[in-house]
Amino acid sequence: MEKRCLQQEILRLKREKGITVLAHTYVAREVSEIADFTGDSYALAKWAQGAQGDVILCGVHFMAETVKILSPQKKVYLANPKAGCPMAEQLTVEALKALKAQHPNAAVAAYINTTAALKTECDVCVTSSSAEKIIAALPEKEILFIPDINLGSYLAARLTDKVFHLFDGGCPCHKRTTVEDVLRAKEAHPEALFLVHPECPPAVVSLADYAGSTAGIMQFAKESSRTQFIIGTENTVVCHLAAECEEKQFFPLKEDLVCPDMRRTTLQDVLACLKGEREELVLDETVRLRARRCIDRMIALGG
Ligand code: SF4
Repeated sequence: MEKRCLQQEILRLKREKGITVLAHTYVAREVSEIADFTGDSYALAKWAQGAQGDVILCGVHFMAETVKILSPQKKVYLANPKAGCPMAEQLTVEALKALKAQHPNAAVAAYINTTAALKTECDVCVTSSSAEKIIAALPEKEILFIPDINLGSYLAARLTDKVFHLFDGGCPCHKRTTVEDVLRAKEAHPEALFLVHPECPPAVVSLADYAGSTAGIMQFAKESSRTQFIIGTENTVVCHLAAECEEKQFFPLKEDLVCPDMRRTTLQDVLACLKGEREELVLDETVRLRARRCIDRMIALGG
């Protein structure tokens, strides 16, 4: 079936069954075009709480878990069950317990890109947009930050009254960016501002005109009086910005800044899900309740 026919069939079934489709900003644009809401992982989970009917999540596994943790009364489906986030699975619960034993006085702050099982062992969750505010508000001086060493380093450089213990994990996609990539892009587009996600290495972030979450990058680009931008995050953001701000120009930091897991979800997956060909995501209730504590704390401290 052609893209347009697939999209029409999805929209028809979605209406008929009263199902809400949520898409992460990094999934292919043709998928986000049929979604009821597109946003980052935290925005998706919050939006799902008020959504009509059951939910199909176009993104990766930990995001569907986060939706289920916050909306247990809804049936939640991951459009492509094979889509996982490598960073979310870099640390096991046992390894985290060992790290906690090494730093018994530290508050454990988990990037939201973690499994529900890991969240059960954490004190608070953070997103890239809320992390600085939340960690600053914690009473503990010591912070054990998991799993992204780059985001952790970014926070440690800002919150100098805290002592950070970092786990050496991170996003394989953002971690591959280099200073050479930035210099090359700036040489090709000397008038462009460089906007970057703090999941990139600190040396790359240090060259940015703006560093922030995906939503922050998009807002900055839209509101800026400047017209050219180099985008240092997953390349789908370049497509979204180009479609939403036709008068401006957006350049990827590098052509292969692509998350293969986010690209796994296709229109065929969404259609299969709507036809009942995907299994509902199920979370053990004890895990869900324990994981929810650190998400609730994130909402309380981060707003
Ligand atoms: S872009 Fe990175 S953090 Fe996001 S899903 Fe892909 S691997 Fe995970």
